[in-house]
Amino acid sequence: MRRPWRKGGVPRAGARRQRMSEGRLYLLAGPAVSLVVACVFLLVWLHHRKRSYVPFFAVAFCAYAMAALSQLFQIPAGVGLNTMVSGLVYTFGIFCLVQGVLARFGKAGAAPVLAAVSVAILGLLYYFMYVDRSLVARIYVQNFGYGVMFLFAAVEIFGASGRRKVDRILFWVFLLFGLHFFVRTVLTLSISPDLFALDRMRTEGADARTIGLLFRRSPFWQVLNFSLLVSGLLVALALLGAIAVDAMDELERQGRIDPLTGLANRRGFDDLAQELIADKTSHPQSLVYFDIDRFKGINDGFGHATGDLVLATVGGLVARVVMPRDVAARRGGEEFVVLLASTSARSAFHFAERMRAELRRTSFPMLPPGAVVTASFGVAERRPDEDLADLLHRADQLVYAAKHAGRDLVLTDDGVLAVPVVGQGAG
Ligand code: GH3
Ligand code: MG
Ligand code: MG
Repeated sequence: MRRPWRKGGVPRAGARRQRMSEGRLYLLAGPAVSLVVACVFLLVWLHHRKRSYVPFFAVAFCAYAMAALSQLFQIPAGVGLNTMVSGLVYTFGIFCLVQGVLARFGKAGAAPVLAAVSVAILGLLYYFMYVDRSLVARIYVQNFGYGVMFLFAAVEIFGASGRRKVDRILFWVFLLFGLHFFVRTVLTLSISPDLFALDRMRTEGADARTIGLLFRRSPFWQVLNFSLLVSGLLVALALLGAIAVDAMDELERQGRIDPLTGLANRRGFDDLAQELIADKTSHPQSLVYFDIDRFKGINDGFGHATGDLVLATVGGLVARVVMPRDVAARRGGEEFVVLLASTSARSAFHFAERMRAELRRTSFPMLPPGAVVTASFGVAERRPDEDLADLLHRADQLVYAAKHAGRDLVLTDDGVLAVPVVGQGAG
């Protein structure tokens, strides 16, 4: 019978130990780098606690390091137990990595699918370890299984990603990383014929160390460790880059948001309104501009902090009545604007009238019981080729006219459309 492990000339014990330790030293690079990466993710998370997907990455890279060390040092001992334990930890690591990236894209609901794939991988690993012993089958199960998990992530990212460059980069990284599991496994197994004989050697009673040495010398194993080191680093860099971009976006977003009301501020409104104006599918557009009546009286009578609470309440009211494509903002002081998409002057008037009535009905717990807050509204439909500044100016003029006409009313270009002044504002 052909005994490949005798042919190749297994080194003498001393030389063998030396080579194995050299091999192990080189192989330690992967787990060491992974542990460093895990620490980096942990530090990032400690500084950005609300990015709840980041700890997944720390756990994933830590799990990868543990699994690699477990295989390298054969802890726990015994081929079967070691295969199952390291397989479990590897699979858990990949699960966390994919779950983390999906959570970033708001797709954490895919966890059951990932869990099902993980269980299938472990079940097949068990089968090909204890029932139908086959090292090559186990290699296929683990690599193809992990490839499937990454490709699943790529498909989900593709479905979720917007126009942002960082999302597209993550998609490509996960797609290529997923495909690499298939390509590398097929190619390296085709140039590692010895691996196909290792199961038979084991059943024929060959020395476990010899088998281990042959395995570690195979092109499959060498390429596996090198490629996981390089591609793992690339994945880590892509994820760190994505976190950095997310943090910058958040800062940018905060610069466009009014912290008091959660609506856009002047800068945010101008940018978003320009985008809406450029979108021909949302024409006609109308601007509703309103200014709270006698607000200074609220500040003077009840304090600036109470005034802030009133502004926040009015902001909440605006947020509740606008549609997703509309752009709502506190443009400054006690002045609010809403650019309504696909809305004519008449519909915008009805919208403003509903808001005026709603504001009148709103109770303000921070003010004395029965206090009524009102506002004066100007409504203008955007004329063809009219720019945002002109539209704002026209609506502002209408607000000014509404103040002069007695407050608590809505004015459009056509003149007074609603003048139900029933009472005075709280000021
Ligand atoms: P009118 O009916 O003519 O609009 O009278 P008004 O009192 O509402 O208008 P005026 O422009 O005289 O006063 C606006 C006040 O809004 C003055 C300013 O101190 C106050 N204000 C501006 N921004 C804020 C803010 O962020 N918080 C609070 N609490 N007050 C603000
Ligand atoms: Mg005012
Ligand atoms: Mg004002």
